[in-house]
Amino acid sequence: MPKRFDCEEDPNEFMDMPCQCDCGNWFDLNDGYSSQNSNKVICKECKDAELSERNDEAKEKQSFFKMQRFPDKVKNEEFSKTVLIFDENDNEFADLGFYDFEKSEWVVLGDMSFKMICWCYLPNPSDFLKTKNYKSDTHRGYC
Ligand SMILES: [Zn+2]
Repeated sequence: MPKRFDCEEDPNEFMDMPCQCDCGNWFDLNDGYSSQNSNKVICKECKDAELSERNDEAKEKQSFFKMQRFPDKVKNEEFSKTVLIFDENDNEFADLGFYDFEKSEWVVLGDMSFKMICWCYLPNPSDFLKTKNYKSDTHRGYC
């Protein structure tokens, strides 16, 4: 009795709503993910790639930098973004500050004087807040 050839499987036969990702992968629309970078639906592999890219960015933003390295400049200004600067002796003490590129010096915003050892970018809660329904509040002297 002749043996049937194994036909190459048509992926479309096993899916309710076959979709093709930009990368060429086929997936069922139900198994797709919404891309964080566009409003497209993407496959699992592309979603994982997006995630690890975002983690790398987040890691970079969480790093501590030596004082000889300067934070990103504020666009069209001669000073840097505001960052958190740590005290050499008490690493739990930190103050907000920035680098003045015009005068080539660090500026701290509080009234404490201390030897600075390292700095880090401030965390940005935008992504976190997207999934929350927080209510705002006002501080003393708010106007
Ligand atoms: Zn893909």
